[in-house]
Amino acid sequence: MKKFGQKLRAAMQRFMAGRYGSDKLNILLIGIGLVFCLTAMFFKNTYVRLSLAGVSYVFLFWSIFRCLSRKTYKRYQENRKYLMFLQRLKDREHRYFDCPRCKQQVRVPRKKGKISITCPKCKEKFIRKT
Ligand SMILES: [Zn+2]
Repeated sequence: MKKFGQKLRAAMQRFMAGRYGSDKLNILLIGIGLVFCLTAMFFKNTYVRLSLAGVSYVFLFWSIFRCLSRKTYKRYQENRKYLMFLQRLKDREHRYFDCPRCKQQVRVPRKKGKISITCPKCKEKFIRKT
């Protein structure tokens, strides 16, 4: 029995080799999927139920797709964008702007009125209200 477990684990490792696996964005997708799935149970209307269940499947399949994906760099970038978005939401003391020339993200303190911002990457100057 122990050997079977080892074999199964080895097979699983082979299967997942080179695949992306799970990350925080995947956990969010699964969470959203489950919320839709649970909400569907509260509706009596079949049409509403089916559409909510459908939406939940989209999110669940999306997370499975990301988990099994071999394009690890692309998946990593998606997760990074999500984490950056979360950071932006949490950060109440700064505002974030994209440089108009090179799209570099620039962080400046809030409530300073109109200020001139110099992009740290390309030295482009632009004025924004903070
Ligand atoms: Zn720039």
